[in-house]
Amino acid sequence: LISGNSILAALKFDEARGALLYQDVRYLLIRPETLATFQKAVEEKLGAGADALLFTGGFTGGSLSAQRYREVFGLSDEQAVQFMARMGAEIGWGNITITHFDAARGELALMIDSSPFAAAYGKSERGVCHLVRGVFAGLASGIFRRAVVADEDKCVAMGHARCHIVIRVA
Ligand SMILES: [Zn+2]
Repeated sequence: LISGNSILAALKFDEARGALLYQDVRYLLIRPETLATFQKAVEEKLGAGADALLFTGGFTGGSLSAQRYREVFGLSDEQAVQFMARMGAEIGWGNITITHFDAARGELALMIDSSPFAAAYGKSERGVCHLVRGVFAGLASGIFRRAVVADEDKCVAMGHARCHIVIRVA
């Protein structure tokens, strides 16, 4: 049902380019299996070093989106954090809940129910939702104006009921 989804309701289709746009920013739909296969192929080459590459991709997207939508909608720090969580759910990244946000201390924590990244990946000994971890680290780093560390201490891929990500200034 699109009516409860503000992102899909505002999504524009540029038929000539085959482009999907939200607020003039291009997005693409991609199957989680595509990303999970890519992730495993990179891990085969780099081991845990692959995590940082996916994280960096997410970080860039999160930084750009946070900047863009803060400008477009005139959001405060708190509103930007809530907007990104809501948008994450509306673009299918799982049901994201901000569990802790303290701008003064430079702390942000979130919980993800039904992460498509974990579901597509299968079992793992460490967290696999590096894109989400990166997006919110990018957002947080922009708000705190500092480098941050981001840790997924619980992940469905590790056998937990939901994913949990903790971000704090480095
Ligand atoms: Zn996860």
